[in-house]
Amino acid sequence: MSEAVRKTWSPAGDEIEFVLAQLKEEVGACMQCGTCTASCPNGFAMDITPRAMWRMIQFGMLDEILESQTFWMCSSCYTCTLRCPRGLKLTSVMASLKRLAMLSGKGRKNSAFYRAFMENVESHGRVQEMGMMSNYFFKRMDNPTLPLKFVPLGMKMMAKGKVHMPGGGQGGVLKPMFAKAREMEGLS
Ligand code: SF4
Ligand code: SF4
Repeated sequence: MSEAVRKTWSPAGDEIEFVLAQLKEEVGACMQCGTCTASCPNGFAMDITPRAMWRMIQFGMLDEILESQTFWMCSSCYTCTLRCPRGLKLTSVMASLKRLAMLSGKGRKNSAFYRAFMENVESHGRVQEMGMMSNYFFKRMDNPTLPLKFVPLGMKMMAKGKVHMPGGGQGGVLKPMFAKAREMEGLS
């Protein structure tokens, strides 16, 4: 086997290989038209376009896939799923990629923002920016200067009244939904 081919396959556990095999099947019919990429509202923040991501899955490029931030930028808006001419369940593929990254153990750092966001929504029923960012900084202890980078943005948002203070909101209202989703995914 050539070096180039060997590099795309990581030694992975059974579950990782199982998820990857499922993903290959799910995007197997992709014809690379690019409609998903052109439609994605978060594409500007992705390091690899959705179209290219499906190709990497088809080629089984596990290492490269896991290094990408693309699926953590997916906000599950379903636009790509609705527009794909092949009818592929692309939002679900993005969710499976998050799961794959967590299974591999490579997702902890890259997923910090995503996890902080979801934990905040689960607790408060909507995002409370200050609590979410504190949780994010806590998860990113590996970079203690990170909060400083967000000071200008935080000041701007506060000046425009875009920062919601902790408390109030619809605390806990979404907890049953999260619990059900975990149950369906076999995580509880
Ligand atoms: S829209 Fe569908 S067929 Fe077109 S590139 Fe995206 S996944 Fe492939
Ligand atoms: S579901 Fe995710 S990948 Fe698809 S268009 Fe929305 S943000 Fe982009």
